[in-house]
Amino acid sequence: MSIQIPNYIENIASVTEEHTNTVSIRLECTCGCNRFFVTSTDDKAMYKEIENDFNKRFGSKVEIRSDKLGEVQYVRRNFFGKITDSANVKEYAYPSNRVVFFGKCQQCNHNYVIYDNWKFGFDAMEKEPPIIYRELKSSTQKDHTKGVGSEVYITYRNNIDEEDLLEMKEDYPNENLSILFSEIVIYISDDGYSKKKKIYQEETR
Ligand SMILES: [Zn+2]
Repeated sequence: MSIQIPNYIENIASVTEEHTNTVSIRLECTCGCNRFFVTSTDDKAMYKEIENDFNKRFGSKVEIRSDKLGEVQYVRRNFFGKITDSANVKEYAYPSNRVVFFGKCQQCNHNYVIYDNWKFGFDAMEKEPPIIYRELKSSTQKDHTKGVGSEVYITYRNNIDEEDLLEMKEDYPNENLSILFSEIVIYISDDGYSKKKKIYQEETR
């Protein structure tokens, strides 16, 4: 089974190597620049941010109740007992093991999502997206390139055979199968492909 560049990244990908089950690319911004500031989600900082948002909105006097449809809600009341604010509890749930990598072009500052394990890869098909798909703020990200733009290389591998893929197409007729891959490895380099250094690897099924 061959693998193609997942279509979420193809407009900024230039192929460096291609084999039966793997394809390797170097990121190239649409402006022509190939150096990026690379950051990724930091769970601890993310949890802290959600907690702060929650405390600011509901404080310690939060009340938990179910609405008419049985959905669990956080509720805040004023002095007279009138509900002044409410939110579905799912709004403050953080999807565990979520990993997102960003690449921000050194030249034009465009910020690309270069990987999101809740959206791309085989595992993403099984995941139920959170009610609020939180935009990730820069304060909650790990900095991999320490303020200096790096080249970014990504290798995608596919383990699935043709037969399984056909089956999958039947099971998930509405899924976008061109974002699927079995494994992703992300590298950064200051000086070409041979000097690349691995910063992340994940098997997605
Ligand atoms: Zn650019």
